[in-house]
Amino acid sequence: MPNCKQYEVGKDCFSPNRNLSPLTTEIDVEGSLMLAKCKVSDLANRYGTPLYVLDETTVRAACKAYKDALEQYYPGDSLPLYASKANSSLAVSHLVASEGFGLDAVSEGELLTALQGGVPPNRIVLHGNNKSDQELLLAYKNSVLIVLDNQHDIERLAELVPSGGIPARLMLRLTPGIECHTHEYIRTGHLDSKFGFDLDQIESVLIYLKGESWARLEGLHAHIGSQIFELEPHRDLAEVMADVLLLAQKLGHSIKDLNIGGGLGIRYVKDDNPPSINTWVKVVSTAVKESCSSRNLDLPRLMCEPGRSLIATAGITLYTIGSRKDIPGIRTYISVDGGMSDNPRPITYQSLYTACLADRPLDSVEETVTIAGKHCESGDVLLKDIQLPSSKSGDVLVVFSTGAYNSSMSSNYNKIPRPAAVIVNKGQADLIQKRERSEDLLQYDVVPDRFRVVG
Ligand SMILES: *Cc1c(COP(=O)(O)O)cnc(C)c1O
Repeated sequence: MPNCKQYEVGKDCFSPNRNLSPLTTEIDVEGSLMLAKCKVSDLANRYGTPLYVLDETTVRAACKAYKDALEQYYPGDSLPLYASKANSSLAVSHLVASEGFGLDAVSEGELLTALQGGVPPNRIVLHGNNKSDQELLLAYKNSVLIVLDNQHDIERLAELVPSGGIPARLMLRLTPGIECHTHEYIRTGHLDSKFGFDLDQIESVLIYLKGESWARLEGLHAHIGSQIFELEPHRDLAEVMADVLLLAQKLGHSIKDLNIGGGLGIRYVKDDNPPSINTWVKVVSTAVKESCSSRNLDLPRLMCEPGRSLIATAGITLYTIGSRKDIPGIRTYISVDGGMSDNPRPITYQSLYTACLADRPLDSVEETVTIAGKHCESGDVLLKDIQLPSSKSGDVLVVFSTGAYNSSMSSNYNKIPRPAAVIVNKGQADLIQKRERSEDLLQYDVVPDRFRVVG
């Protein structure tokens, strides 16, 4: 059961990434969970379940926390970018753009969502370790910053940019060779990573790019991983990047942007203790500032790319409880109407979550149960051995901190339609993603004519 009355005194407590539930969480007089003045079980009734619910106040507060801290601690220009793979939609694109954020995209789909979602193209950055020609061209034509991840990107762009055309705006991604403690699937900055140029390749790439008229190198990029609670790796990263910045300058490049990636962790369960957004920005800003000044470098524009820490705790998922199986002395399974298709993180990363009953969040704990999804996998378990009051079929279950890497990683496994998503603010709920229907899932199936022949 999350601590719903969590507005503890002390600045760091307000950092959205350190809360187990969205900032606007309250309990009403009847003891039901409220979000942005909307009764959560009413949302479940109105929109059906499973339902993704996003709290606008929390997303905006996280954006402001990044912006304010950059202004406070970094003396140069800065531009925070939202790593849209965390939760990509037109509405979220509009939301972060209205807070002055740019956006990271890693595919044509994410790029289109950003462009059509009102993010100014010159504030969009395209990543990817295997970009298609189509993706590169869409980015180039919109003057989007393209992150060179490997030699293939360079070769393709050299061919795709028309001769005499405007040069492509580029960043160079380095593999900084930094280890950090997170799940191995989401570590990206160590030497054995598929992303970026190794440090010993950088000099020759910089020399090559200097002589190419199609290329305009504007920045350097690195990203060391995700759900990171340590601050030291980012200090180390600033040193590595400042060294490369110095090298680039010596080779005649005028680099104006330094992009240090994302990666700040969030609190999924009580024991998680990530630094606040404020602390993280302070540490990276100070490290970049000091690394540059000790090398006599002008301060670059500082970019960072939060995904999870910007949106995860703003989101909750609502499920309806269905069947129950008691295995005496072993386990009690409670099954809900979603699972690994709307939240693949537990089965993929063994991620932990926090949950409560929507209408009895503060009731005393009566049993230890395992919340299972409805998919045909024994591993389809959303929460293992959690404490809940006794519940019955039809009750609404709330899972917290599902705003990042849930909707965006969802699938149609077992031909289960994806949930709807709503955004709530000041007592109002608005649909931002329609619920799929089972019929929708057949629209791309094709039956060869010869299969239709009866006989
Ligand atoms: C995934 C990713 C991010 C965002 O990471 P979070 O941990 O969600 O903040 C930022 N930059 C790049 C290049 C990424 O791949």
